Amino acid sequence: MASTVTLLIEPVPAGETRHDLDATFREVDASAPALRVGELSTQRGDGIFETIAVIDGHAQEARAHLERLRNSARICELPEPNLEQWQAAIARAVASLPAEGEFALKLVLSRGVEHGPAPTAWLHVAPAADFSAVRARGIRVVTLDRGYDRDTAERAPWLLLGAKTLSYAVNMAALREAKRRGADDAIFVTPDGYVMEGPTSSVILRHGDVYSTPAPSGAILHGTTQQSLFEHLEATGARTDYRDIRVPELGTADAAWLVSSVRLAAGITHIDGSPVAYDADETRALNDYLLSPRD
Ligand code: PLP
Repeated sequence: MASTVTLLIEPVPAGETRHDLDATFREVDASAPALRVGELSTQRGDGIFETIAVIDGHAQEARAHLERLRNSARICELPEPNLEQWQAAIARAVASLPAEGEFALKLVLSRGVEHGPAPTAWLHVAPAADFSAVRARGIRVVTLDRGYDRDTAERAPWLLLGAKTLSYAVNMAALREAKRRGADDAIFVTPDGYVMEGPTSSVILRHGDVYSTPAPSGAILHGTTQQSLFEHLEATGARTDYRDIRVPELGTADAAWLVSSVRLAAGITHIDGSPVAYDADETRALNDYLLSPRD
């Protein structure tokens, strides 16, 4: 059993039915060179990606991730991905993994080589970092101004807000700034004081029995983990709400989390250096759900 699998994928146009999808993948050694120097993904970050958790042999919410890949492609004017092909690539990679353990599976669709005829695509899956301690003890976060108003996505669609593009240098810089300020993670806010999202996660707050998250206006990525948790919470009778959330509400919540596909639910213990209400038992229950097989 391999714990790392890399597949180079020859993209099949959406709508084309192929019965030999396996012949469109080529397994390569992840430590050997595989991309050309003219790749626009590496030169310009011009492409899109998804990161899916594989937990005990199950790719979590694969369909939701594939739908978001398709949406990102639409926003970035990339050729529409053939979701059946990607689904088959995921199945092939997962079949090679051990039956137990947590893995991070990344799908990448790039605009391809400069002046080249076709997009480049690949899948890479490797063991996930061990987040069990973080899930139990929680995280300290700082709020960082992202510089965009809530309506920026509609006003300036060329900023590609709402797409999961490969241009994550800003998101990584925000994480470094958070570390410099003695925290583990960040929450982006608008200049006029509204909560957006983390650099690699969605924000969920609980006030009483109402769970809320910022409305996915297009300026933030609509998180698959947040959507999955909301469906689960609604099924247990809790109320959920998409709405505008002002920054001070982070401090008055009965509990708050950053949620994402691989780290899952990380309870927030401090915001900008001040302690906030942290619910360890509830965080454990949310992660028990997130660790169970989900489609
Ligand atoms: N927002 C941003 C900017 C992200 O990069 C991510 C995930 O990487 C998320 C939200 C959470 O999305 P998901 O729950 O689908 O992992």
